[in-house]
Amino acid sequence: MIMDVFENLFGLFRTKTDKYGGLWVKRFNISKENLDTCNGVAKPDPKTRTCAICVALNDTVFHLANRPRLSRHLHCKCEHMQEQELNATLDFDMRKITHYLFVHPSKAGLIESMGYTIEDALEVYNAIAANALARYAEGDYELDVLNCNGQHIDIEIALPGKREKVGHIYEFYTGWIAYPHGKLKNATPFAGWKEKEA
Ligand SMILES: [Zn+2]
Repeated sequence: MIMDVFENLFGLFRTKTDKYGGLWVKRFNISKENLDTCNGVAKPDPKTRTCAICVALNDTVFHLANRPRLSRHLHCKCEHMQEQELNATLDFDMRKITHYLFVHPSKAGLIESMGYTIEDALEVYNAIAANALARYAEGDYELDVLNCNGQHIDIEIALPGKREKVGHIYEFYTGWIAYPHGKLKNATPFAGWKEKEA
């Protein structure tokens, strides 16, 4: 169990490029509810007087150097348990690519601008999935919004261009939600371009 006092200590070393390896923590509290039992929309648990946000974070696994703050409020009962390793899995529906990324008016032009067509859906899916798993396993993600739908994280994807765009590397973010036990649920396959460093 990692005590709260270490929070700030480790926080000092938190940078995007930190790769500590092996330092994973599962967050837990006395509630039996989590995002899975709540079907993705956490509610307060009156039995244990646990708030919706703590229910949303229950059983989630984060890198020690890159995780939501442990104590969210007065009398927060969340604790951390150290994990030997991360068993990361994805909840990533192929339709996020075939029925959204390639067809939604706000997205379709993006993926086509990288040289891809709908026949490449599986290739795009596999590239995003592999990138996401690898970066999550390195603690290389950015914490985004935390609400009753869970802790959102952004993961950077580097996708090589195809056809007339061969030779280009496209860098963008994909949006995920941290589900219990190291599962990432895809929120959006495209959450914005990575901004070029000046
Ligand atoms: Zn709480």
